[in-house]
Amino acid sequence: MDLALTPEQQAFRTAVRDWVDDVVVPNAQENDRHERFPQEALAGLRDTGFIGLTIAGEYGGGGADPLSYALMIEELGRGDANVRSIVSVHLGLVAGSIARWGSEEQRERWLPSMATGDCLGCFCLTEPDHGSDPASLTSTARREGDAYVIDGRKMFITNGGIAGVALVMARTGGPGAKGVSAFLVPTDSPGWSTRPVHGKLGIRSCDTAEVTLDGVRVTADALLGSEGDGIKVALSALDDGRFSLAASCTGLAQACLDAMTAYALQRRQFGRPIAGFQLVQELIADTAVDVSAARLLTWQVADRKQRGEKHTLESSMAKYFASEAAVRAANAAVQVHGGYGYVDEFVVGKLLRDARVTTLYEGTSQIQKLLIGRAITGESAFV
Ligand SMILES: Cc1cc2nc3c(=O)[nH]c(=O)nc-3n(C[C@H](O)[C@H](O)[C@H](O)COP(=O)(O)OP(=O)(O)OC[C@H]3O[C@@H](n4cnc5c(N)ncnc54)[C@H](O)[C@@H]3O)c2cc1C
Repeated sequence: MDLALTPEQQAFRTAVRDWVDDVVVPNAQENDRHERFPQEALAGLRDTGFIGLTIAGEYGGGGADPLSYALMIEELGRGDANVRSIVSVHLGLVAGSIARWGSEEQRERWLPSMATGDCLGCFCLTEPDHGSDPASLTSTARREGDAYVIDGRKMFITNGGIAGVALVMARTGGPGAKGVSAFLVPTDSPGWSTRPVHGKLGIRSCDTAEVTLDGVRVTADALLGSEGDGIKVALSALDDGRFSLAASCTGLAQACLDAMTAYALQRRQFGRPIAGFQLVQELIADTAVDVSAARLLTWQVADRKQRGEKHTLESSMAKYFASEAAVRAANAAVQVHGGYGYVDEFVVGKLLRDARVTTLYEGTSQIQKLLIGRAITGESAFV
């Protein structure tokens, strides 16, 4: 489906696809088996410039349009969700927030090294006791002269152990969303420490960490936006993060469709390829419809971003649908593979495990439904 793609976008997608097939796909299962971080892919993301794709050209990035970004993320998601997650967090959640909310000094300080991938970003919102309700977070940032001192714990932080800069949400004021501020914290600051989270069901080779901030002192110019803007910064970042996640889930579902179709054509039972059985075709057909619908919802967000229009509702819809579709697609892919889908000779088991987290993070499916319902009715069902 090439609806609305320019020749340049098609050529770009082909270049990313070829790179993913050459560098990412061959290592994905082995990295997953050993919980091994995809170093070879990160090196390649730097060499190709994909790691800085959406950062403006004046800061050394690719200055790409939102649809090209979606195309890249879909291909990365098709190849390995672990590799995709490095980029989504780095570009979508962190670099995008610096570009949107940062002062010129903050952009000049961080974006050039983020564009080359020498400095990676991580996004620190979730805490051990505050996930779906980030406005209640308890990490604090205390003003001391021309500095802030940050204390707290952050949970499940993607890129947490490898990032050079962390976007950290911490409380500077009273209770609720308006008491939260956002900070750009260099991760070599004294008092910053991380502990890797092992034993994940999926995205096992992705760097996920628990972060402790113990008296981390940053200068006042680390504040991103104004005091009290922290939840606004985080939510605007998540609008882009959900767009990215929807693109990734489209790619993962496409990988499931490709795998189940290939297997169904070569696997024979009752004297014929199982692809010829109507009930197998139903699994393939439902997945094909899901892939196209997820892609179109994702591209709808890209179109709104390109026009500079608000896309909170559309990002939630795309993320909700595409993540649930990815789980359905992966389940269907395992089903088509029969018993062979249950052992890791084939990739579909990994796809199912990797898909599973997508209905949980960047707002669970339940939270997306509440956001969509609130946007449509004007009534909040959160509390
Ligand atoms: C691998 C991984 C990577 C992650 N990366 C990051 C990261 O980089 N940065 C970051 O900040 N966070 C990250 N997260 C955290 C993630 O965003 C949270 O796990 C997620 O927001 C859910 O929060 P929780 O786990 O505390 O679940 P909870 O909020 O405790 O939710 C538990 C259940 O209750 C339901 N629920 C909660 N409130 C409501 C309600 N009002 N109505 C109906 N149902 C409700 C939820 O839908 C869910 O089913 C990551 C998580 C994982 C697993």
